[in-house]
Amino acid sequence: MNTLLEVSDLAVAFGDVRAVRGVSFDLDEGETLAIVGESGSGKSLSSLAVLGLLPAQARVAGGTVRWDGRDLLTMPDDELRRLRGEELAIIFQDPLSALNPSLTVGYQIGEMFRRRRGASREEARRRAVEAMAEVGIPDAGRRAGQYPHEFSGGMRQRVMIAMALALEPRLLIADEPTTALDVTVQAQILRLLRTRQQQGLAMIIISHDLGVVARTARRVVVLYAGRAVESGTVAELYDRPAHPYTVGLMAASPSAHDPDRPPRPIDGLPPDITAPPGGCAFHPRCPLARERCRTTEPELRTVAPGRTSACHFAEEVLTRAGTTTDARA
Ligand code: SF4
Ligand code: MG
Repeated sequence: MNTLLEVSDLAVAFGDVRAVRGVSFDLDEGETLAIVGESGSGKSLSSLAVLGLLPAQARVAGGTVRWDGRDLLTMPDDELRRLRGEELAIIFQDPLSALNPSLTVGYQIGEMFRRRRGASREEARRRAVEAMAEVGIPDAGRRAGQYPHEFSGGMRQRVMIAMALALEPRLLIADEPTTALDVTVQAQILRLLRTRQQQGLAMIIISHDLGVVARTARRVVVLYAGRAVESGTVAELYDRPAHPYTVGLMAASPSAHDPDRPPRPIDGLPPDITAPPGGCAFHPRCPLARERCRTTEPELRTVAPGRTSACHFAEEVLTRAGTTTDARA
């Protein structure tokens, strides 16, 4: 498989404060990777950094990002903008904020064909309707003439996906694509994304929901307080997590969790990403924490073939996970 995206040792800073550090992952052509963590873990920042879309106060403070062999971080702005239009696409959790309320949906999708493909007004409208029909929007011809507020949340997310996929990108980054949606619509959107995966689209799914991840991704990177704390394949990581935070996320996830036991949230709150606790940033919430955890930050290290964990006691966690799905049980 061809490596499409290589992110290595990425750091994002606000002023002097590093909010994300040491984040590495790569993605093969047609593969789906999930970046998982609670809100404020740095998962959105990491992916925005990859696309050169960081908010103005933030900057990339280290690392490399290679796309198809080219360095995205040093690429001239106009070239990166062109890539974002043609090869790299992103959809966000809140489609309403990404759509222009005063233009019809069909016009907004059609604009992409006019701007990027030099399509005529007629042609752009026809392609917009096609793109809407392709993501399962019924009666697309009529709905293309409607405004964003006339669409339900699920239909708006479909519109965003239609826009993101209109120019046939090679990579789609989906940031909490189904979080605002009810379960039925969520399942429809995930089905839609899966169809595109099967057609060869590479994806990065950003989510706090391990159930969503299980249904879409092959590999996972778990972030906590701006650092990668665990990575591995979905199958292995769900079967035997190697970090207490992952164990907690699984216990907290309604859909990834044993259906016979109610979800149990992780004790405490995620730390301020710009001022995480010393030692292991997870130690105030970790049921396995001991003295060394308060003083020494664990390195991310290989703990099994294809598995990394940033826990001093990863081997212990792996062993416990073999006998129970909840290290705190
Ligand atoms: Fe818990 Fe210590 Fe491992 Fe951190 S290093 S996750 S505090 S056991
Ligand atoms: Mg986010």
